[in-house]
Amino acid sequence: MSKPDPVVVVGAGPVGLCLTLALAQQNIAVTLIESMADDNFLDQVPRAGSNHPTTLEFFDRIGLYEKLEPRGIIAPRFHYWDRQDNALIAEFDHALLKDDTRFPFVLQCERIKIIEEALKMAKAHPLVEVRMATEFISFEQRADAVLAQVRNAAGENETLRASHLVSAEGARSIARKSLNLEFEGFTYPERTINIEVAYDFKQHGYAERNYISDPVEYSNLFHWKGPPDRWRIHFPTAIDDDENELKRPEALQKRLQQFLGIDHEFEICGCNLYTVHQRVAERFRSGRVVLAGDAAHVNSPIGGMGLNSGVHDAFNLADKLARILHGEAEDTELDRYERQRRHVAVKHTQAQTIRNKRLLEERDPAVRRRNHDELRRQAEDPALARKFLLRTALFESLKEAEQIE
Ligand SMILES: Cc1cc2nc3c(=O)[nH]c(=O)nc-3n(C[C@H](O)[C@H](O)[C@H](O)COP(=O)(O)OP(=O)(O)OC[C@H]3O[C@@H](n4cnc5c(N)ncnc54)[C@H](O)[C@@H]3O)c2cc1C
Repeated sequence: MSKPDPVVVVGAGPVGLCLTLALAQQNIAVTLIESMADDNFLDQVPRAGSNHPTTLEFFDRIGLYEKLEPRGIIAPRFHYWDRQDNALIAEFDHALLKDDTRFPFVLQCERIKIIEEALKMAKAHPLVEVRMATEFISFEQRADAVLAQVRNAAGENETLRASHLVSAEGARSIARKSLNLEFEGFTYPERTINIEVAYDFKQHGYAERNYISDPVEYSNLFHWKGPPDRWRIHFPTAIDDDENELKRPEALQKRLQQFLGIDHEFEICGCNLYTVHQRVAERFRSGRVVLAGDAAHVNSPIGGMGLNSGVHDAFNLADKLARILHGEAEDTELDRYERQRRHVAVKHTQAQTIRNKRLLEERDPAVRRRNHDELRRQAEDPALARKFLLRTALFESLKEAEQIE
């Protein structure tokens, strides 16, 4: 009997790598295609990194958690601050979830570390063929297979035959565009600047993760493990602000000095500017081609839900694909994947991240006061705080998705 066609996964981001490992560990052969090469793969900005308890459970399932914990920071608590009054509004502690999960905390561990560790695991797995420096170009669907066109590391065009093709290519997914799928939603009329700085914000009372409301300049502040130990602070900027001016060292120093209200020369480790989108693809599958992660949905990073919900797509899809390929389920399972994960993308990830941003940037003093009172009320009542955490840590979205047939 000839060998079955592998699943071709495009993109060695967190979603593609988790999907690859989850499939291989269920005895499915995978060819993983990544356009970056081994010698530049780790030259990427660190990006996402607040990994919620639900995601840690998934990482643990494939043996990835134990590799990440030593490289990250365990963050049980997070804060909401009011920058106008320089006052803590509310503290939420994941310890309240101790009966709900083995991981009652967020692990602060950036995307770059996740993909470094997961790629090593994928390369070591006998059922995974990793093709670095290989660019996915297009595909053709047949009744019994997908033919993926790639440009390989030698610069040659090559056709790979696959049982299914999963686009985990990120927001610019070629597969999504080739399928002419609308990427429905909007782009915020502003950009966000991230500044990474080696400075201990804890001395000012901050937790490892902080959401800071301000009608003039809201922000988010997160702690990352070094060396050097760093904090990343996000600020909104006007869409037409000049990038070079924004990134000028003196301008970055001034922003940080104004934020803390102190005269200090900060050790800045890096900065980047990005545009934020809220978009969901109109469909997540077409025949044997499936979208997952940022290829299927993108959102504001406030709340740390992009990477997390993408990883949840990966595990949902891996289990369904494995059952289909082992002959235990019909191909229609992929429609259920779409129903479940598209529901989460629209009703949870989009809705929640839009609300998070509104909360932080609210200008109306009466609405701000009401919002802050409501946060305090939820944080102070353990039953309400647990409910709040079950939503923000994405337990609620997983449970709801599971109920969708
Ligand atoms: C500054 C910033 C901060 C963020 N912070 C958070 C956070 O705190 N929490 C959170 O949950 N999310 C956050 N996000 C979002 C998060 O980074 C993404 O949601 C996540 O990385 C998506 O993972 P992915 O695997 O779907 O795609 P990606 O991580 O984008 O990976 C896609 C991969 O596919 C490869 N690829 C692309 N096209 C091709 C092709 N044609 N052929 C072969 N390979 C290809 C790319 O090289 C890449 O390796 C943040 C994003 C940014 C920009």
